[in-house]
Amino acid sequence: MDIIHLLPDSVANQIAAGEVIQRPASCLKELVENSLDAGATRVQVIVRDAGRTLLQVIDDGMGMSEMDARLAFERHATSKIREAQDLFSLRTMGFRGEALASICAVAQVEMTTRRKEDETGTLLEIHGSDVVRQEPCSCPIGTNIKVSNLFFNVPVRRKFLKTDQTELRNLLNEFYHIVLVYPKVSFTFVHNDEILLELPAGTEKQRIEAVFGNPKKNVYTSAFVDIKTDTELVSIHGFVVKPENATRKAEQYFFVNGRYMRHPYFTKAVLTAYSGMLGNDYQPSFFIYFDIAPEAIDVNIHPTKTEIKFADEQTIFQILMASVREALGKFSLAPTIDFDTQGSIEIPVPQTNRSVNRPQMSVDPNYNPFHTRGAIYPDRAPKNWESLYEGLSGPRDLEISTPREPDIPDAESCAMWQYGGKYIFVPTEGGLMLINQHRAHAAVLRAQFLEQLGTNQGAMQQLLFPEILELPQDEMVLMTQLLPDLRAIGFDLEQLTPNSFSIQGIPAQLANQSVLPTLHTILSQVRERGANTQVEWREQIAQGLAESAAIPYGQTLTETEMRDIVRRLLQLPSYRRSSEGKIIVSLLSDEEIGKRFM
Ligand code: ADP
Ligand code: MG
Repeated sequence: MDIIHLLPDSVANQIAAGEVIQRPASCLKELVENSLDAGATRVQVIVRDAGRTLLQVIDDGMGMSEMDARLAFERHATSKIREAQDLFSLRTMGFRGEALASICAVAQVEMTTRRKEDETGTLLEIHGSDVVRQEPCSCPIGTNIKVSNLFFNVPVRRKFLKTDQTELRNLLNEFYHIVLVYPKVSFTFVHNDEILLELPAGTEKQRIEAVFGNPKKNVYTSAFVDIKTDTELVSIHGFVVKPENATRKAEQYFFVNGRYMRHPYFTKAVLTAYSGMLGNDYQPSFFIYFDIAPEAIDVNIHPTKTEIKFADEQTIFQILMASVREALGKFSLAPTIDFDTQGSIEIPVPQTNRSVNRPQMSVDPNYNPFHTRGAIYPDRAPKNWESLYEGLSGPRDLEISTPREPDIPDAESCAMWQYGGKYIFVPTEGGLMLINQHRAHAAVLRAQFLEQLGTNQGAMQQLLFPEILELPQDEMVLMTQLLPDLRAIGFDLEQLTPNSFSIQGIPAQLANQSVLPTLHTILSQVRERGANTQVEWREQIAQGLAESAAIPYGQTLTETEMRDIVRRLLQLPSYRRSSEGKIIVSLLSDEEIGKRFM
């Protein structure tokens, strides 16, 4: 008897849907991208219960014919490419023809759509891939798609949705990624009848202001300077925050050829340009747009991936860094930037393409971002702005007077004592340093784990009695992805059954009893934070291990232990706050202490 048969379409679609539509945010992305591909000038998004109950997208785009409306929900039905060649000259966000088929497989979809040339529109209702209604209707030009009860027939997925708050944040993030590259299209975003965003058509800068600024004040983007560079390889433009306006939580966005992308290596280029200009726990916000020949990048073939590979990342790193530095050097009132040192800054090598030659780059040194300012906010740009900067022969001329901060103590010799089983107090020149012992140790360990991950030099401690780690199917997949790094850091892991691993050894710093919860925490953090790249999941691994290995509150420390923690803490490039923004070190200046006696 033959046993192979073809799956019915509805089942095939449901399986594929898992890949394209993972959460309400991915559904929203697909719908809004379709509206933009259809040439919409106005897009309304209406959401209920963070997308669980309703996700509706209304556009004024080109609409669909009766026939196309029906075809649109078939797998691999697309109007955007006809043959493989077309893939190389894509002008649209979508092209795979899978999104609508996937969405209707896992939700109840109602759509009305009408083209300009048609008298009547089409109404179509599909529940879990079954067409339950199709009829002519009267409706405005454009398309209106309502997706209700997402994952109603995939209880596992529904169960894995996070709290409404988290899913709403995901929705908004996905929305930002799109609206920031389509400033000429107007958007609204309504959640549970509340208008969260109202974005009129405008320039990129106005769009950024509308999304992140305080709508009443219009000041957000004045905290930024423009960057702009044109080279043969790449054109870069955008906005980077002035150092004095950096914040603890930054908005950092890269876009390439009209799409959002993540690029940790280029992020590093921007951070390098700011080096020495930001306080310890401050981050620069930036919105940077790249234009590059399509053949120089690996197109974002997978719909859910936001990473993009460039052919020549090291050169772009340099161009980007130079461009940011130049903008900051010219226009910020921040401490001096010494351009002579530029050549000596070490450019880290990206993970891929280690052997690329660096062609000459040509950065336009005469570019003056302020020349474009008037055009952006004609009514607000001061006419004689140049005079504002006259007499400033250099940033060194500016004395910024802030109250004196206590010095960094010398950890080898200074006095220190533990307080309340929780803090380490260190008197220093100019004040008192208060250190949170658990956070300090966690930060130190995190850095150590990250380094060991990079150098493959984790120290292992054999377990007398192996532990068994049991995992649900989706975490097994994650686990396989993390396995090489977990081994590098000191875990001795073997797969036991299709859904379990045995653990025979653990990182030396870790206490035996906390192994299983620690691994579960790491896996769920990796999933929750969408850590898709090695850089990101290594951070989660290092963070998770550090959290559980760090000395707890209440533990008494010997002087040697305290000194060891303080010494290693103060060596970290950023020791005042944890990577998650928690305060590790609080400084009490002499002045502040003095004030208590006045
Ligand atoms: P893709 O976008 O990859 O082509 P989709 O499944 O997202 O695949 O959409 C299938 C087709 O349905 C599109 O190619 C387009 O022709 C049509 N379509 C989808 N959404 C809209 C819309 N909002 N307005 C007009 N046409 C649309
Ligand atoms: Mg699409």
